[in-house]
Amino acid sequence: MRTDASLSHSASPSPLSSPLHKPASNVIGYIHSVETCGTVDGPGIRYVLFLSGCPLRCLYCHNCDTWDRQAGEPKTVEDVMADIERYKNYFHFSGGGVTLSGGEPTVQTPFVKALFHQCRIEGIHTCLDTSGYCEIEKAEQFLPETDLVLLDIKHMDPRQHRRLTGVDNDKILAFAKYLSQQHTPVWIRHVIVPGYTDDTQSITELCAFLASLQNINRLTFLPYHTMGSVKRAELGISDPLVGVKPPEPTVMEAARAIATQFGLPVD
Ligand code: SF4
Repeated sequence: MRTDASLSHSASPSPLSSPLHKPASNVIGYIHSVETCGTVDGPGIRYVLFLSGCPLRCLYCHNCDTWDRQAGEPKTVEDVMADIERYKNYFHFSGGGVTLSGGEPTVQTPFVKALFHQCRIEGIHTCLDTSGYCEIEKAEQFLPETDLVLLDIKHMDPRQHRRLTGVDNDKILAFAKYLSQQHTPVWIRHVIVPGYTDDTQSITELCAFLASLQNINRLTFLPYHTMGSVKRAELGISDPLVGVKPPEPTVMEAARAIATQFGLPVD
């Protein structure tokens, strides 16, 4: 299996890397897939790049095929930018831009930083869709190039977070606080899973934490859905949430009511 270093050295020079043209980058990203006209992962029409690799194992994950970083297709920033530029008009008239998602995009921090840097040079809005499982040292590298963060906080309780995702939440909460200190605009997304995140105490603790931050521009509660079961079956991965049904509309409404009590911009 090829490594980042070997790929970087073997990447062919492109005419665009000429000093006569804008700076190009040979930083390699491992790409799972692309959605060229997304409308839910940030404002306006988005070019959404799903990067491979994720250290979490969320019980409800329906993107299990993004977990393995090396399974992604290697592409340079230069290659990706050449494709992105075809959609600049869409970004311009819709207020859109580029979103990096995954998997967990911060496992490829050098690529995130390099791609967002190129987007900034091109005047393209940059958005990072992340679980927040990211060291501050990494965040320091890409945040100066990031216009908006979509942050998915899974659970406030450490034990319940491990149960739901397989990892601790201390790094995620530290990342959220750091974003607030840096005044980075954040949209929060939180999945309501019956039996895991739908109780009043869990939602109240989440909202209390979010209300302590200075940078939350939007909060969206997403109902757990069972589409992940189909993908897991296709991939031969067992589904730990067999039998769990999507939450009732009243549960979603109760969550929104708690958020409103905390003065959060819930939609
Ligand atoms: S963070 Fe996202 S990609 Fe990773 S396991 Fe959780 S839901 Fe799946």
